[in-house]
Amino acid sequence: MHVMVLGAGVTGVSTAWYLRQAGFDVSVVDRQPAAGLETSYANGGQISVSHPEPWANPAAPFIALRWLGRNDAPLRLRLRRDPAQWAWTLGFLRECLPWRCRRNTAAIAALALRSIDELRRLREELGLSYLQQQRGILHLFFSAAEFAAAPRRVDELTRLGIAARLYPGAEALAVEPALAGIAGRLAGAIHAPGDESGDALRFTQALAQKCQQAGVRFYHNTHIRRLAHTGGLIDGIEVEDERGHSGTLDAGAYVLCLGSHGRALAAPLGERLPIHPVKGYSITVPVRDPQHAPQVSLTDESARIVCSRLGDHLRIAGTAELNGYDCSVDPDRIAAIVGWLERTLPGAADAALAQGWAGLRPATPGNVPIIGKSRCVNLWYNTGHGTLGWTLACGSAAVLAELMSGRRPALAFPFHGR
Ligand SMILES: Cc1cc2nc3c(=O)[nH]c(=O)nc-3n(C[C@H](O)[C@H](O)[C@H](O)COP(=O)(O)OP(=O)(O)OC[C@H]3O[C@@H](n4cnc5c(N)ncnc54)[C@H](O)[C@@H]3O)c2cc1C
Repeated sequence: MHVMVLGAGVTGVSTAWYLRQAGFDVSVVDRQPAAGLETSYANGGQISVSHPEPWANPAAPFIALRWLGRNDAPLRLRLRRDPAQWAWTLGFLRECLPWRCRRNTAAIAALALRSIDELRRLREELGLSYLQQQRGILHLFFSAAEFAAAPRRVDELTRLGIAARLYPGAEALAVEPALAGIAGRLAGAIHAPGDESGDALRFTQALAQKCQQAGVRFYHNTHIRRLAHTGGLIDGIEVEDERGHSGTLDAGAYVLCLGSHGRALAAPLGERLPIHPVKGYSITVPVRDPQHAPQVSLTDESARIVCSRLGDHLRIAGTAELNGYDCSVDPDRIAAIVGWLERTLPGAADAALAQGWAGLRPATPGNVPIIGKSRCVNLWYNTGHGTLGWTLACGSAAVLAELMSGRRPALAFPFHGR
């Protein structure tokens, strides 16, 4: 059967690979000239199995209130006259309930563990190279009050099957000596040695090349305008090329992997996908002093900022802004991330050469992606991966290919349409 994957981000390209391996004839459609050029372009680089707890957790509403009105706050909510934004925000608050947060955390952890296994297998089998590091993630705490909750978090991760170890005070320097400059400020850290990092764009483009070699066809510069349907069946997708020529592409089945933009295309089918764009920023900075630039990926738990070493650059990312589909780069947000770099890793990188970027995380309220069947018999979803799309890409694609092959994945996960 011919399956058409809609979207060539990290999720769409991984989906194409696993479907091709499962024996499907596969094509991929994307409006950009190459794979990975939207949200998968310059993310934080973390394969963060050790962060399955969604942003929607019992503490989130109080933290959001504390940050309200601060321009440099990691979270910024600009309420608009947009019913979808209000519905998503209410959904987010509902997912903060303790039992919902526990359920979402468990589902994300199960998928993340499967995903990192798949990523390692793919990397080995295909010889993929994407500036990967296998040194784990260090979660840094700068306040004693926040670090006081760290032992409970380690217990919870252990219960979920994720290795993690506590490092009180400045003991984490044994894991990452480049933190010497902030030793006095550290309250403690958690190290998750099984985590990894790497460049999602390089991975996506390298895998897209392998897909092409395996016979997957890519239609780039092709904007999807509408999913044409009759009753419960997709008949084709109406597209427009870069010269404004329109046409229709068709296949036996379709998989929607369109990031934040899938919701609008699915709405005329009667589907209300709870996906909303949550904007984030990153900087990519050349390393100046390799001794002071960390190799271990970092998460600053207080500032909600992550940092990954990508070869001779550092990628530093953070902030969450609910502000519609605007993808412009706000210099104040970039300055806040540069300020973090200068405070936390003084001298490590050339801050004056920082390249700023902004992307839209395709977020569901509970950060659990939408994987499975739609209400149309020949449309499937693999989308809504929010803060963890790079971490979850390979596992999500593998389980979707199993579902489409008629197999039930061995995973405790709330698949869509079941
Ligand atoms: C600042 C930031 C930091 C992040 N850090 C991390 C991290 O450290 N670890 C992690 O796991 N995740 C991280 N993420 C999240 C991760 O980057 C995303 O979840 C992931 O990239 C989503 O991939 P996707 O393929 O679903 O979407 P995208 O990469 O956006 O792909 C969707 C594709 O659909 C195409 N498309 C959309 N609409 C149309 C249309 N109408 N017609 C044709 N094509 C269309 C686009 O061109 C695009 O290529 C971060 C995100 C941000 C913003």
